Amino acid sequence: MAAEQRKQMKITGLETDLLKPPPGPPIYDALQALEVDLGTVVLRIRTDAGITGWASSSFGNRGEGARVVQSILEHEVKPVILGKDPAFPRGIRAELWKALNYHGVTGVGQFALAATDIALWDILGKSAGLPVYKMLGAYRDRMPVYSMCGWYYDHDEDLAQFKREITEAVAQGYKAFKIKVGKYSLDDDVRRIQLAFDVVGKDHRLMVDANQVFDRKEALQRGRVYQEMGCYWFEEPLPPHDMEGFAMLAQALDIRIATGENLNTRYEFADLIARKGADIVQPDNRRAGGVTEWMEIAAIADGYGVEVASHGGGNATNLNMLLAMPNAIYMEAGGPRRMIDGEVPAPTEPGMSSEVKAEEIRKYKVG
Ligand SMILES: [Mg+2]
Repeated sequence: MAAEQRKQMKITGLETDLLKPPPGPPIYDALQALEVDLGTVVLRIRTDAGITGWASSSFGNRGEGARVVQSILEHEVKPVILGKDPAFPRGIRAELWKALNYHGVTGVGQFALAATDIALWDILGKSAGLPVYKMLGAYRDRMPVYSMCGWYYDHDEDLAQFKREITEAVAQGYKAFKIKVGKYSLDDDVRRIQLAFDVVGKDHRLMVDANQVFDRKEALQRGRVYQEMGCYWFEEPLPPHDMEGFAMLAQALDIRIATGENLNTRYEFADLIARKGADIVQPDNRRAGGVTEWMEIAAIADGYGVEVASHGGGNATNLNMLLAMPNAIYMEAGGPRRMIDGEVPAPTEPGMSSEVKAEEIRKYKVG
């Protein structure tokens, strides 16, 4: 392709697929059941240079959300971006914020904005012949990863499955692990933490995640126990809007406070970070915004000495962004994957490595 042609790129089309994968056996955190109702929207943005940018956005429950995002992409995003130069992600974001203003740029609107931005960065990487982490200014070429492996399961009163899942994560090569807490009593949390440490060993990191369910007093009382037991971070102790509660907790506890998977945009993160409400922020690349917004959040955090970890299933988008930030400490993941000493190697393909396999689309497409 002629270099001149790439400089003149224009967006010529937007296509989506709605996928409905079958539900899996339910897994639970303290707040919700996951895997019970799934939905994914796949996005392709076409250009006149013959380069197609890909993104996908998945719902772990409330799968119909994917249909709403598809509708926003097809009816509200598409008319704004057609004819635009994909090399202007910040300009396009500003126009989309105006276009989507009536129903707002948080919630499902942000899922659509984020997917658009990720697809734009895929185009830019492919156009330059570079993986996106290099386009963003790479910091490292391997990323430490941890396994979210200790959920709540049906019929698991004796914690046999809980123990089996953590044992499997150790065998898969992970060096850091996370378990859910807060669904039942503090005694139950203690039992789970002790068992997990028995499996992974005291020299490995174990994080606990309460998925928003405590009030301030309960979070403080339980946090003191998690801290005493040697847990590495205490995630989402409070509902995401309780910024003042986060500030109180981060001040009162020595254990690292991690949160952010349910915050939208750099403005909500700036509020949390300026109040010193977290030691580690965990932007989700659907709710926090796409690559552009996520990198800005990570940079704000870096300026305040706050670390960053990704939220969600350890996909290539998260990996590309984390590799470009010096304050990134972990990618969240689960299941088997290629690792070298507990770290995931950088992607080598130009672009975002965000393409969805044709086989998967054919199998689950409903719209
Ligand atoms: Mg979490």
